[in-house]
Amino acid sequence: MTLSGACSVLGFQGFLSCGSLVHGVFERTGGVSCAPFDTLNVGFSTGDDLYAVTENRNRVLSRLDLPRALFLNQVHGSRVLVLPEDEKKDPGLFWKPGKPGPKVFATADAVVTKQRRLALVIQVADCQAVMLADPHKKVIANVHSGWRGSVQNIIGECVDVMTGRFGCDPGQILAGICPSLGPCCAEFIHYLKEIPPDLWKYKAQDNDCFDFWAVSVDQLLAKGLRPDHIENMNLCTRCSPKRFFSFRKAKKTGRFACAIGLC
Ligand SMILES: [Zn+2]
Repeated sequence: MTLSGACSVLGFQGFLSCGSLVHGVFERTGGVSCAPFDTLNVGFSTGDDLYAVTENRNRVLSRLDLPRALFLNQVHGSRVLVLPEDEKKDPGLFWKPGKPGPKVFATADAVVTKQRRLALVIQVADCQAVMLADPHKKVIANVHSGWRGSVQNIIGECVDVMTGRFGCDPGQILAGICPSLGPCCAEFIHYLKEIPPDLWKYKAQDNDCFDFWAVSVDQLLAKGLRPDHIENMNLCTRCSPKRFFSFRKAKKTGRFACAIGLC
């Protein structure tokens, strides 16, 4: 395997100003996978070479300077996984470079924790990863929300877990919406069957494209987050195939990593 260019990593301004947080949206460059997974694919279920994905995951952790990660088995559901503070309660759940892979797979589409030195990673190719952090309570979360997640409001569920189980104040929570399918490309020609009527107001007037970024912002606002605490990168994956994996653009493709952790 040859080394290609370095990783290109994007960040949210609000998170960058918090000393206790580390996070990153990893573009598709800087990994070792071959086409059509070139190059920084972190998804094992894509059909990519296992050794390449392993190396790519290790590179993500190395760049974040964190020793372990949680990669969820994402199923477009609404389950929010809570990782207890005592990390010994979760043996075999984490990805650790140089160690055998996890023995247990956590099936969920969101995860909340106070555990430090752990990267919560969402793997995406058009779906949204929405990172959440309460820098005062030192609680973080990462959410996988595709259109099914939007319909089920998994973002709102996750904020409820942060406030209900961890005592977070919604007014303190920062949110970041990672690159995903934008209103330019989120076309749902079967929306009458797939999307419930209460979300039809997010559909464009003259075509069948939906603004799921606006859905997410509204779901966060409805839970009490401040508008100036919500950042959207406003980057559409399908419109930027050289930077991001896009399932709508390429079908057989990789997954890029959106990760957040507490130092
Ligand atoms: Zn687009």
